[in-house]
Amino acid sequence: MRQPLVAGNWKMNGSLEENRKLLDKLVSGLNTKAEVLVCPPSVYAQGIREQLTGSAIKVGLQNVSDKASGAYTGEVSPLMVKDLGIEYVVIGHSERRSLFGENDEDVAAKFCALTDQGLVPILCVGETLEEREAGDTMKVVTAQVEAVLRTAGPERLANFVIAYEPVWAIGTGLTATPEQAQEVHAVIRGLLAEHDQAMADRTRILYGGSMKAANAADLIALPDVDGGLVGGASLIAEEFQAICHAAG
Ligand code: PEP
Repeated sequence: MRQPLVAGNWKMNGSLEENRKLLDKLVSGLNTKAEVLVCPPSVYAQGIREQLTGSAIKVGLQNVSDKASGAYTGEVSPLMVKDLGIEYVVIGHSERRSLFGENDEDVAAKFCALTDQGLVPILCVGETLEEREAGDTMKVVTAQVEAVLRTAGPERLANFVIAYEPVWAIGTGLTATPEQAQEVHAVIRGLLAEHDQAMADRTRILYGGSMKAANAADLIALPDVDGGLVGGASLIAEEFQAICHAAG
C-alpha cells in the first residue's frame, strides 16, 4: 500500500565531477518499484535535476529555512525549493539538531513552512546512545514526533515522511537490529494513528542509520519500515542501487 522510498542524504559531500559520475552509475541499471531520491548539497540541486531529466530519480534537499524571504543570510526558503520543482526536504536531522542547535520548535516551524507550500518534509527523529541506554528511546522519539504533530495540526499532515534515525547508528557502522527498528517504527505509527488512522496508514516511516546493501533487505521487509534514509552508502553507486533494489 505504501510505496517504499529510498532517500540518499549526501550531506556536505561531492563535487560537480563526483556527482556526475555517481549519478551516471546510479541511473544505469536502476530498476526498482521504490521511489528514489537524492539529497545533494543545495548548491548542486538544480544541476542534478537537469542531469536526471528523463530518469525516475528525484532530487530533494537536506534542510530549509522556516522563513519565506528576506534578510536571512545563507538560508534557502521553501518558496525557492518549490520554485525549483523540488518536493522533498529533510528536516530535523540529528546533525542539524546537535551541531546547529535546532530544537523541536525549530523543526516544527520548518515542517509547517514546507507543508504550507505543498512540499513534503522528511522529519528525522531518533534517540542518542545515552537515551537508549537509559531506557528513554520511546519517550524521546514520542516527544520529537508529537512536537511536530501538535504544532502542525491536522491540516498539515496530508503528506509527509518520518525517518527514524537512532543517533548512535548514524555514520557509525552500527545498525539497529530489525527488532529494535520495528519496535520504534510501530510506536511511531501508533502515535500517528492516535491522530488519524488513515494518515498513519499512508505515511511512510523510513529507517536511517548505517543502512547498506548488506542490511537493507532485512530492515525494509519489516512491516512498519517503508524504506531508508541513507547517508554514507548513498555516495557509493553500487551500494545505493542495491538498497533501492532491496526496497522492491
Ligand atoms: C544519515 O545521515 O541520515 C544517515 C543515515 O547516515 P548513515 O547512513 O551514514 O548512517
